[in-house]
Amino acid sequence: MAREQGPGSVRAVQAGAPEKAPSAARAPARAAQPIAAHAAGPASEELRAKSEELVRQATACKNLKELASAVAQCTACALCHTRTQTVFSAGSGSAGVMFVGEAPGQNEDEQGVPFVGRAGALLTDIITKGMGLAREAVYIANVLKCRPPDNRDPSDSEKALCTAWLDRQIELVAPRVIVPLGRHAANHVLGRDSSMGALRGQVHERQGRKVVPTFHPAYLLRSPSEKKECWKDIQLAMRELGLPVK
Ligand code: SF4
Repeated sequence: MAREQGPGSVRAVQAGAPEKAPSAARAPARAAQPIAAHAAGPASEELRAKSEELVRQATACKNLKELASAVAQCTACALCHTRTQTVFSAGSGSAGVMFVGEAPGQNEDEQGVPFVGRAGALLTDIITKGMGLAREAVYIANVLKCRPPDNRDPSDSEKALCTAWLDRQIELVAPRVIVPLGRHAANHVLGRDSSMGALRGQVHERQGRKVVPTFHPAYLLRSPSEKKECWKDIQLAMRELGLPVK
């Protein structure tokens, strides 16, 4: 899931340079939907009640430190039984840009840090070589805070519950721009169900914040020819942030 694979600067690929060798090693509510609206079907009442309780707990957290502590104790879904630890965030809590992936992978679960390993190295290249920022100057999180076993896709109910934490993270960090990484994260952040082709290459809005979806770094490692498209998305985000685009 941070679903792995290795470095290679977006700028470098844009310039036609070969991908580097792999290195070691991964809301305010949905735009127009309340968190509880994720719930549907026969188990909806229980899910809704759990979701509302998580929202209550998240809202009670006055800062990111309190929120991280609450997340570390969360047992709202079954992923608490298989995680090594929760994976809350990396970077600055006052960042102007927030990257959001889907869920921790094996390396993230082991280290407790989002976007480590090969996909993480590529994200770091995008941030440092592409955007000219330090990785520590941006904020990085996932929709889910616990690793799904065998890196399976998160279930709808897991996302419906865990989004309370992400939503509060977004409120507390208050980034100007959110960059969801991959289709699942982008659809979750925007409350949509669209293809990546329909999502990326444009600036969306979610509760007054700009949202610029792009490919997940793990996908870029499998499909390096798409890095030039990712670079276009990153340039869009940079313009929204007022960063110089060369
Ligand atoms: S994935 Fe989210 S909702 Fe499920 S136990 Fe972990 S922190 Fe809680």
